[in-house]
Amino acid sequence: MRGIGLVMAGWLLATGLAPAQEYKSGIPWSEPKLVTPGTASTAPSDAIVLFGGKDLSAWNNGDKWLVADGVATAAKTGISTKEMFGDCQLHIEWATPDKVEGAGQGRGNSGVYFMGRYELQVLDSFQNPTYFDGQAGSIYKQYPPLVNASRKPGEWQIYDVIFTAPRFDSSGKLLSPAYITALHNGVLIQNHAELKGNTFFDRPPSYKAHPPKGTIDLQYHGNPMRFRNIWVRELKPLTVPEKKNPVADKK
Ligand code: MG
Repeated sequence: MRGIGLVMAGWLLATGLAPAQEYKSGIPWSEPKLVTPGTASTAPSDAIVLFGGKDLSAWNNGDKWLVADGVATAAKTGISTKEMFGDCQLHIEWATPDKVEGAGQGRGNSGVYFMGRYELQVLDSFQNPTYFDGQAGSIYKQYPPLVNASRKPGEWQIYDVIFTAPRFDSSGKLLSPAYITALHNGVLIQNHAELKGNTFFDRPPSYKAHPPKGTIDLQYHGNPMRFRNIWVRELKPLTVPEKKNPVADKK
């Protein structure tokens, strides 16, 4: 080390350069909370587990679906979370039926609806052509996925999604739109895509004001889609704590 110090001192003398002074932002951020990351099959420590393999008690209509061997299978109707969410990170694993039946939108269809309104499409898009903004990973009828990262029918697939809720003012005017960033099997398929409104089946997208939090829904589209390992993390903005010592602050 001493040798290196001498070399540095010599270099400074030779160049006439002083070491740069370090820049720090000086912003008194709150300390980031500790989170224990999950594993391939478990959630991070601060996540809300929506389905961990045992039951769908976190969901309205959860009793209509079948749960066996750690897997929930869609049946009869869609399900929606009992808890409401705004900005969030969602992890969900899904598999289309092994036995290929139907075509296009009729094959392995489900969907993840944020706030009960904004659908990230779930579909068997392995060699199954349909309209591009309706295939797996599309924001339904708004944006195709950037690429098609689909696995074969019956194989487990993963969505990791960051959802930003839209903001409305008290008169119902849109202040900022919803955004979705999504990875499909680890591949980026939506990159901060700006939503144009609700993802309707029968009309163009449009916004209608709604509360700041809403349900996360899973669609039942007639196919026995399977799901496992579903968890969500609520996202909150970074904060700078209020100053704690008003007396000292008056100086
Ligand atoms: Mg769908």
